Amino acid sequence: MRNIQKQSLKEEGRSRKKINREIVLVTYVFVGLFLIMIGYLGYFTYKESDTYRNNPYNSKRQQLFSDRYIRGTILSSDGKVLAKTEVDEDGKESRNYPYGPMFAHVVGYSTKGNTGIESIANSYLLNTHINPALQILYELKEQKTLGDTVKTTLDTRLQRAAYEALGDAKGAVVAMDPKTGAILAMVSKPDYDPNEINAIWDELVSEENKNSNLVNRASQGLYPPGSTFKILTLLEYIRENPGNYEDFSFDCDSVYEVGEYKIRCSKQISHGEEDLITAFAKSCNGAFSSIGQTLNFSEMYKLCEKFGYNAALPTDLLSNASSFVLKDGSSVWDVLQTSIGQGKTTITPLHNAMIAAAVANQGVMVKPYVLESVESESGTLIKRFSSENYRTVMSPEEAAVLQKYMRAVVTDGTGSKAEGDGYRVAGKTGSAEFASGRETHAWFVGYADVEDPKIVVSVLVEEGGSGGSTAAPIAKAVFDAYYGE
Ligand SMILES: [Zn+2]
Repeated sequence: MRNIQKQSLKEEGRSRKKINREIVLVTYVFVGLFLIMIGYLGYFTYKESDTYRNNPYNSKRQQLFSDRYIRGTILSSDGKVLAKTEVDEDGKESRNYPYGPMFAHVVGYSTKGNTGIESIANSYLLNTHINPALQILYELKEQKTLGDTVKTTLDTRLQRAAYEALGDAKGAVVAMDPKTGAILAMVSKPDYDPNEINAIWDELVSEENKNSNLVNRASQGLYPPGSTFKILTLLEYIRENPGNYEDFSFDCDSVYEVGEYKIRCSKQISHGEEDLITAFAKSCNGAFSSIGQTLNFSEMYKLCEKFGYNAALPTDLLSNASSFVLKDGSSVWDVLQTSIGQGKTTITPLHNAMIAAAVANQGVMVKPYVLESVESESGTLIKRFSSENYRTVMSPEEAAVLQKYMRAVVTDGTGSKAEGDGYRVAGKTGSAEFASGRETHAWFVGYADVEDPKIVVSVLVEEGGSGGSTAAPIAKAVFDAYYGE
């Protein structure tokens, strides 16, 4: 009997311990969940709230912020106002763009939705870091608080130089720091005046308007790369012939014939007997089509994808992905065309700037960025953005060889008009065919100075003719502005 009692007491004790353990476990689970919730709330408040606030689908929430804050100011890197909200006596707000159309695409607008920097920086412009006491005072008085100021990487001198040099042509100019990816200038034409966006909206989006003024051609315009693509054809050839690529020779009589196909050199020029660097400098189509026939296009495809083709560009700006589709087993005609940047390949001017920048930056491709810092209305630094590497696309030795070849384009080839006094340029021209019977698109991509690269420029002029005579001088105007002429 006693034994039985002892037994049941033991069991009772055991089950009580078990219950205690369960209570402890449940408590831990609850405490754990609670901590996760607190953590998430904190994370949400400090991090996700910007994303949430910035979400274009969250317009009611954004409306709430714009009811409390006056949209902040956007500045250039040299301290000039690119966008500012003016408030009149009746409290009516209007967004003012002092440079008119000059920065239209990159700075964007904020009334017909948000685009450009107005979109990327929306959460900062509709947030405030003024003195909390002042903010409480404003809120008590039901007054709006001024949003934070966003400083960009854009330089008004370079933007003006690019804008004026492009003139009335359609096209785009991008200038970037090849080591950091800071975008120094970004112009797209035809443009529009963002001060008038509400008044001209219907006209801009009407079907009769074939100019696509709202498209940022610098990051969204897809064009055949033309001979600027020879930079990548050259690199693949060097990789496949590491010991003997300098032995290459070609005799150009202006037309390269393969069976029924003919590849012509620009302006029917006969380049004569050439080695590899001369063929590149003079942009001989025959030589590069013949090189293309020797290449392993599976490897070429991988190289192009490494350089950023067929993927979204690493940028917050609206952009389109460049396209490279050729693989092994493609037709002879496709191989001949693709090797000289024709055929189905397309690229944006911004992406082409990134490729030239990778050569300038010893093989490391950087992410383009356009926001430099966020400051409170009184000038206190809130946040500073920094440069990020995208990926290593080639070795420093390969970049040095490409630089030597691109330097020859300017000293002995088609790109001589890209260079002015006081700096030395390495680059590549292109005259890209896109429709028969139409003038070619003119390209130039390159950077200065070859010894210590500071600025890469990519120029595309729609139906501008020859890259060397139309696009290279536009790049020169931007280089001149940078080096202070
Ligand atoms: Zn030729």
